[in-house]
Parts: sequence; C-alpha cells; structure tokens
Amino acid sequence: MDTTVIIGNGVAGTNAAATLRKNGYEGAIKLIGDEVALPYQRPPLSKTWLREPGRPSPTPIRPLSFFQDNRIELMRARRVVSIDRAARDILFSDGNTMKFDTLILATGASPRRLDMQGDLKGIHYLRGLGDSAGLRQALACADCRDVVIIGAGVIGLEVASAAVDLGKTVTVIESAARAMARVASPATTNFVTRKLTDAGVKFLFNQKVKGFGTAGDHVSTVNLGDGTEVKADLVFAGIGATPNVKLAQAAGLECDNGICVDQDMRTSDPKIFAIGDCARSDNKFAAGKLRIETVHNAITQAQVAAAAICNMESPAPVPPRFWSDLKDMKVQAVGIAAGYDLVRSDASQNPLSLEVHLTRGERLVATETVNLPNRQSILAKAISPTV
Ligand SMILES: Cc1cc2nc3c(=O)[nH]c(=O)nc-3n(C[C@H](O)[C@H](O)[C@H](O)COP(=O)(O)OP(=O)(O)OC[C@H]3O[C@@H](n4cnc5c(N)ncnc54)[C@H](O)[C@@H]3O)c2cc1C
Repeated sequence: MDTTVIIGNGVAGTNAAATLRKNGYEGAIKLIGDEVALPYQRPPLSKTWLREPGRPSPTPIRPLSFFQDNRIELMRARRVVSIDRAARDILFSDGNTMKFDTLILATGASPRRLDMQGDLKGIHYLRGLGDSAGLRQALACADCRDVVIIGAGVIGLEVASAAVDLGKTVTVIESAARAMARVASPATTNFVTRKLTDAGVKFLFNQKVKGFGTAGDHVSTVNLGDGTEVKADLVFAGIGATPNVKLAQAAGLECDNGICVDQDMRTSDPKIFAIGDCARSDNKFAAGKLRIETVHNAITQAQVAAAAICNMESPAPVPPRFWSDLKDMKVQAVGIAAGYDLVRSDASQNPLSLEVHLTRGERLVATETVNLPNRQSILAKAISPTV
C-alpha cells in the first residue's frame, strides 16, 4: 500500500493529512511530530493564554477521535533526524526507520534568537505550549513589573497587549521606524500604535539593542545604542522566526530562506513536498518567492499539496490573510502589503475601526481592517492575482 509520511503535526501537517483523506486518498498516512500534546493551535499562545486566570488548555486542531476515525496514524513525541532519499526512508532519533512513498515536510519555524552569548534568566521566546506557559508564569509574578518587548512585529505587540492588560509597565523596542513594518501599511500600524500608546505601551522606534544589564544571572536592563538603559524584569524577544530546514538541507533539497517548492508545493525531489512556515514558494498575489507564516497559508498549502498527491486539480488561488488581536482591536489583513503605490484609509466608520486599501495602479493589492470583521471576506474577493 502507498504510504504518505508527514513530518510535523502542526496546522500544516494536520491539514495535509485531513485533506488527503477528504480527497479520497486510500494509502497509509503517518503524521509525525516531536511535541507531546495533541496537535494544537498556536495563535492563542500569545493572546488568551497569557491572560487567562487558572490553567488554560491548548486548543486542539482536531480531536483525537478524528485521527482514529480517518485512519491517520498520529505519532507524537517522535523526532525525525534524517531523510534517506535514495532508500525512501526516514530515521528517528531512537534509531528506528520508516519507509515512505510520498513525504511531506511540515516542520514549521523556530523563533530567531537574540545575538548574545549564553542564556540570561528573564529572557523569553515564544513558539510552543511550554514557552507560553513559562511566559505566562513569569508575567504572573508580583515582582515582574517592567516588561520590555524587543521587536514590534505582530507577536511582540500581542505580548505587549497582554502584559499591559496584566498591569505591567511595557516598553516596546523596535529597530525600524514603525511597528509591523513587514506585514502592514503605515496607515494601519500608526492606528494600532496610537491605540496601544493610549493603553499605556511605550514605543521606542529606530533603536538597536546593544546589550543587557544583569542582576546575578537575571536580566535587569536592556541597553540601547544611544546609551539609554531600559529597566527590565522580563524581556520578550519577538524578532522573527527562521524556517526549520535542517532535515531538507541535509537531504540535499533546494533551500533558500525556506524549503523551495513549486506551485504544487513539490520540492526539488518530486516525491517530497513542503508546506507551511518552512516552505518558500511563488505566490500569485505578489512578485517573487515568499515564505508566509500564517495559519491561513499553512491550510492553503496543505490543500494544494494534497490535491497534487491525489492527482486532482489544484484549488483556485486565494489571497493570503492573517488576523491579530491587539487589546480591543481585531486586526485583519488580506493580500500582501508590498509593491503598492497608494494607500487609501477610511477611519470614519467609528473611532475604533479602520479600513485601508493598498493599490498599485488600478489593482487592489491588499486590504487591512481594524474591528470590521464582516469586511474581510468581501474585500478578499476584490483582490486579484498579479497575473
Ligand atoms: C505565538 C504565536 C501566535 C501566532 N498567532 C497567529 C495569528 O494570530 N494568526 C495567524 O494567521 N498566524 C499566527 N501564528 C502563525 C501560525 O501559528 C503559524 O504560521 C502556523 O502554526 C504554521 O504551521 P506549521 O504547521 O507550518 O508549523 P508549526 O505549527 O510550527 O508545526 C511544525 C511542527 O513540526 C514539528 N517538527 C519540526 N521538526 C521536526 C522533526 N524533525 N521531527 C518531528 N517533528 C518536527 C515542530 O515541533 C512543530 O510541532 C502564530 C504563531 C505563534 C508562534
């Protein structure tokens, strides 16, 4: 019987398994992940999880019964250490091997680490359940008063929102001139920054971190290039993520800021696919190859790979989208905020909401909204592919 092995049981891998079965794939499906928990959603880890009183529980992507009912062999707490492309098998850290006919790499990404020697207590990163639990516990400590966020990206701002809600003094340090510069237009990020500033978050833009002050083995200040020392009982570094490509690279698959894939999510080996945060592909809604780190992208690419494996027509392309919850703002974006030449924004609907259109010539490239949840699906239909 044909066997598809999926390495990585996050939202990309789990959706690939589910879509293969939905498409009528009859072969064996082995879904492997190195985490212990049932596959879970990451977005709550930087949002509700940090605020909830009591012990929060992970939000499963699918219940355990789903895997059993769909004959998906879910293998948890198992780490794959290498791929033998010639033998068509993978090697686990415990020395066991497993054969595959088709392999899907859904290995995700890891938080980029600060450029510093050794570890300092009080510095946090966020990717998995354990990271979120540790951050939550540290934020709950009475002697944690000053929180410094390094990086004004989406996850940094979500942690800043949670920390200010928990009564902390919050400073966000960003090397660029504005927040969320990689993913949203100035109109939206200025709106969001203003609201967060009103809520008590202090922003320091155009600032580089030079080093850290310490009290024993614990961080005590974040020291900036201009000589400023910002008091810190807790530091959260949200400075981006790097794709987990080691397995692919060691197996000789083409990688360049992600595992390179074609329009069907095939790597340079036609029997090996890559999807989700670890994959870099062409996108019909922007020029050049992109690696997108969103739940929507992971699900979309899982569907594309599953269609190719089942020799079915690929689903029609849909513009990328993401959301974020920042204080009392639901921020949503559709399309890719790049290559636009005009930004039109409308903040007139009510003082708490915003709608932004990014255009290039006549083409609507992307839209962003704040607190207008019903607009996203309508706006998505107005965004057309580049070609
Ligand atoms: C805190 C946080 C909040 C987020 N919030 C949002 C949001 O609000 N909206 C949004 O759209 N996106 C959000 N994202 C991004 C979104 O969660 C990711 O894009 C998505 O999880 C990517 O899914 P994935 O399956 O590609 O990777 P992952 O979810 O990272 O899954 C990959 C899995 O593979 C495992 N793995 C890796 N290598 C191996 C190996 N060798 N052997 C076995 N297992 C392996 C990893 O441990 C991991 O469990 C957030 C991400 C984080 C971290």
